[in-house]
Amino acid sequence: MGEDDSAKARLQLLQQEFTTPGQGAPAVRSRPQAEPGDPVRLAIIDHMAASVDEVITHTRAVAPDAGPVPARPHDIYDWAVRATPDLDDDRRHSRDAMIYRQGLEHAIAMGDTKVVRPHPCPGCRCVGLFWDTVRRRAVCVNRYCAGKSGASRTWTLRELADAHIERKESRRLRAT
Ligand SMILES: [Zn+2]
Repeated sequence: MGEDDSAKARLQLLQQEFTTPGQGAPAVRSRPQAEPGDPVRLAIIDHMAASVDEVITHTRAVAPDAGPVPARPHDIYDWAVRATPDLDDDRRHSRDAMIYRQGLEHAIAMGDTKVVRPHPCPGCRCVGLFWDTVRRRAVCVNRYCAGKSGASRTWTLRELADAHIERKESRRLRAT
């Protein structure tokens, strides 16, 4: 496992940090909480709800008998994986890439933009991507990778997640 575990842990952290006092784990209850009307907090709550909705929609589309959604939002990934044990390669890829991408999105929502750095650039395979907060894309710093115009190539989290899961699948295939 791993991919869904990190998405799970990060979603749980977001919940603890940004939902109302009392809902977090006892250890974090005493921390200062954002004000209820704080736009950052509201955006994070929207982000969490949209993430959970996406997993539910995606899972029910391939497994209509998936059963009730778990009460705790961060259990959604375990639920999705358990409900879809026998997917074909394409569908498994899109499930795993969605979960991995959400893990990246949760980290970035928490301000941890360094999560893009270990990914090789899908264009030139160099490591050294950085996150452009305004464009919401990972930017490759290798100038030999840039297009004819000289503009750096950029990637969405979806593209990075797809490439990551592809690498993982091909490692697994080589190992068997
Ligand atoms: Zn590149």
